[in-house]
Amino acid sequence: MEAYGVRGSTEEGAIFEYAPDVVRVATGIVNVYLVGTARQWVLVDTGLAGFAPVVRRAADARFGRNARPEAIVLTHGHFDHAGNADALALEWNVPVLAHHFELPYLTGQSDYPPRDPTVGGAIACLSRTFPSAGRALSAKLYALSGQSIPGMHEWQWIHTPGHTAGHVSLFRRRDATLIAGDAVTTMNMDSWIEQVRRTPELCHPPAPLTTDWDAARRSVENLASLDPYAVAAGHGLPIAGDGVAEAMDRLCRRFAPPPRGRYAIAPAVAGPFGVEWIPPAVPDPLPRQVAGAALVIAGVVGLAAAARRRRP
Ligand SMILES: [Zn+2]
Ligand SMILES: [Zn+2]
Repeated sequence: MEAYGVRGSTEEGAIFEYAPDVVRVATGIVNVYLVGTARQWVLVDTGLAGFAPVVRRAADARFGRNARPEAIVLTHGHFDHAGNADALALEWNVPVLAHHFELPYLTGQSDYPPRDPTVGGAIACLSRTFPSAGRALSAKLYALSGQSIPGMHEWQWIHTPGHTAGHVSLFRRRDATLIAGDAVTTMNMDSWIEQVRRTPELCHPPAPLTTDWDAARRSVENLASLDPYAVAAGHGLPIAGDGVAEAMDRLCRRFAPPPRGRYAIAPAVAGPFGVEWIPPAVPDPLPRQVAGAALVIAGVVGLAAAARRRRP
């Protein structure tokens, strides 16, 4: 077992302070974080659509009734991180901040590169139901600038592309706390059983939505060089302890593009205006497998019916 302590709860909507002034709120399979104090705080990511009341209740429980953040910061704009950005930002009347490379997917200017269900693993299989479309937020949307973050004075944002072109991670040097978004995960999302168990483990970004594996590796190396003591990611329980920095180094050493999949061959290319080029699709065997299974079932049912008709 890794030499880090795990702090948190897997309960939906449970809040847990895993590092000073950093509270995790679980929204289904995705974590969001309340960062700061009642005097000044920021919401990092917003979770799956429909969980806005869960996040609001957690904020009220943490900071007092009708608590309102300075801003909402998105590590990136995927549906599971930006799902309540409008609902919360409009109700609180606060701005949404993201890297400028992420804005095209939040203004409706561009869709994300298509997800890759052929990359293998549990989350890739499930990703066939995930949306790739960008969204047009109605909330006030601004690009992060400089290195600092409004309302998060001890924190800096770090551009960590690879999972998406404009992905950012947030780092507090004082206690080496890292909010990593989907630059890494703290569970094995490729495993079916770990979807339920969520054994804490530092892993590569969610594979079916990662569209540049070289950039993703460089981003993990960049984060490992910070020697984080605590890692709070978008997926999995946050981890903290003396073993975390070593675990990040190990992840760097074994980090490799997946053996197959659309973006294992070539990365998607994206710029400030969105997607510029995507590699050709890799044939997805599942529809053929489903069609084959349906044919076999239809054949068995037909033979059984014929046998019944032949009986005297
Ligand atoms: Zn993502
Ligand atoms: Zn995610």
